[in-house]
Amino acid sequence: MARIFNFSAGPSTLPVDTLEEASRQMVNYHDSGMSLIEMSHRGKLYDEVHHDTMTLAREILDIPDDFHILFLQGGATMQFGMIPMALLKEGQTADYILTGSWAKKAYSDGTLIGKVNVPWDGKEGSYTKIPAQDELTLTPGAAYVHLCSNETIGGIQWPYFPDTGDVPLICDMSSDIMSRPLPWDKIDMVYAGTQKNLAPAGMAFIVMRKSLIEKARTDLPAYLRYNQHAESDSLYNTPPSFTVWMTNLTLKWIKSIGGMKEIEKRRDEKVSMLYGAIENSDGYYRNPVDAGSRSKMNVVWRLPDEDLEKKFIAEADKAGLSGLKGHRSVGGCRASIYNPMPVEGVKTLVDFMNDFMKANG
Ligand SMILES: *Cc1c(COP(=O)(O)O)cnc(C)c1O
Repeated sequence: MARIFNFSAGPSTLPVDTLEEASRQMVNYHDSGMSLIEMSHRGKLYDEVHHDTMTLAREILDIPDDFHILFLQGGATMQFGMIPMALLKEGQTADYILTGSWAKKAYSDGTLIGKVNVPWDGKEGSYTKIPAQDELTLTPGAAYVHLCSNETIGGIQWPYFPDTGDVPLICDMSSDIMSRPLPWDKIDMVYAGTQKNLAPAGMAFIVMRKSLIEKARTDLPAYLRYNQHAESDSLYNTPPSFTVWMTNLTLKWIKSIGGMKEIEKRRDEKVSMLYGAIENSDGYYRNPVDAGSRSKMNVVWRLPDEDLEKKFIAEADKAGLSGLKGHRSVGGCRASIYNPMPVEGVKTLVDFMNDFMKANG
């Protein structure tokens, strides 16, 4: 059976190279007589994959030496709770910038743990824009500032990283990790569930400044201690070895095509085709988002009415374009065009959109 184009928001499409290599090695990993996911995580073969994944990530994202890379279970959602538990101490305040559903989820966990402040809330504009630096009312001396760099549901993305001075900046990059180079001088921690741009579900990929790890509480249960994971290179307990392996294969794929430069080139090509199709539709397709805040990973749009949206999604599905239904909380359509989505997939989608408009305009 031929593969279809899968625009699902997560879990989402992976590079065919990643899937094929995994299936070649699945039963008998490099002639070891067993699968990598059946062997000890303390053995040499797994250890190589584990550390090679960190090395590749460091190389591709140009991560400086004063940052640790961590592989933790519980996805991004676990980090919503773990961050305030470890970093928001008695008497401190944490800032949460509210740009949409995911930022609000992180904020909600923060409120359970300690004192939180909201430097900016996009509620008035129905979360369709990213604030400018001078719109943020940051708390001097806060424990950290938290933001969601790409709102997967609302389809908006920070085009810059704000200056937070001496206050550590923490970013949920679940849906745009590895899609752009990062200014490490401005950022202290990024975390991302792996199931969008990298691998299957099963872990959070985390990059955390060593000095921030040193500030984290050490009187918590073992799994909640960042320093515990950092000291043992994320091998304190059994790591999600399958997900680490698949992340490794996807990073190898990124490197093989030309690294971040090529990723950005393909991303921009996909983005301009898709937003171009929306703009050139004379209002038939409508993107509700502020032009300067448009996501390069999750593109959302509406049709003239909901019946047409249903028809669009059903016919697209028949044409081999799946996962285009918007999140149930907002409706409409959404195409998630993460790194592994080929340019060809977006081209096919744009052709479909133009044909559909002609037939149903
Ligand atoms: C998907 C998503 C999450 C949740 O990730 P899990 O790994 O399922 O916990 C959090 N934040 C953003 C921005 C997401 O897109």
